[in-house]
Amino acid sequence: MQRYFSSLLLTSFTLVCLAQPKVVAHRGYWAAEGSAQNSIASLQKAAEIGCWGSEFDVWLTADGVPVVFHDGTVEGIRIEDTTYATLMNIRLKNGEFIPTLQQYLMEAQRWPDCRLIFEVKPHRNAKRDYMISELAVELVNMMGLDSRTDYISFSKNVCRRIHELAPKAKVAYLNGELSPREVKELGWTGIDYNMKVFDNHPDWALEAKEHGLEVNVWTVDGEEALTRFAKMPGIDIITTNEPEELLRIMKE
Ligand code: MG
Repeated sequence: MQRYFSSLLLTSFTLVCLAQPKVVAHRGYWAAEGSAQNSIASLQKAAEIGCWGSEFDVWLTADGVPVVFHDGTVEGIRIEDTTYATLMNIRLKNGEFIPTLQQYLMEAQRWPDCRLIFEVKPHRNAKRDYMISELAVELVNMMGLDSRTDYISFSKNVCRRIHELAPKAKVAYLNGELSPREVKELGWTGIDYNMKVFDNHPDWALEAKEHGLEVNVWTVDGEEALTRFAKMPGIDIITTNEPEELLRIMKE
């Protein structure tokens, strides 16, 4: 009996070790020709090369329009303080306009095999954190994308609110200071931590698996780091600026 259990343990351990992590393009596949960070093209290109998922960042304008962009400011204008009308003519590096969340999700509907890793940015106060969380869930559900959208945030307010509104959705915390046990206790479904966090807490990836959490690591670039995390037990997902390189490494 004991031998049975130890071989079972060994099998599950081997499975954890051998499972290849999934590839998420950080801010989409923006390094590709004709792409730009968080552009519609970056989502298309991530899907085209076969990424499991594509990550993007969302802010709410002063007049309540969610837009897809990384930084809190664009050309010196703070997104939270300005109206969408002011932002709508600003172009990204590839010539596209800054997409609204709705435009971005409409494009996502065309790529059913690519998961959406939806980062809700931490806003100025709890009220705006809740507003953007509510709009995010409403739009994703309305557009029929709820079964393939995972939410991530540095904001505890956002994670808490999204988990309340969409209890079946995956919600992962980004900030890195909560242990897997603490994240589990809050009811969230994963940790999505900077690679340094896993270096400082080498036991957290497997500890998260013991709690049934999904483990995502960012932003892993360069052959050495990509190879190291691709082999690390307990890592489910790697978020990278170099998705094509990671796909190549895992094929070998
Ligand atoms: Mg992000």
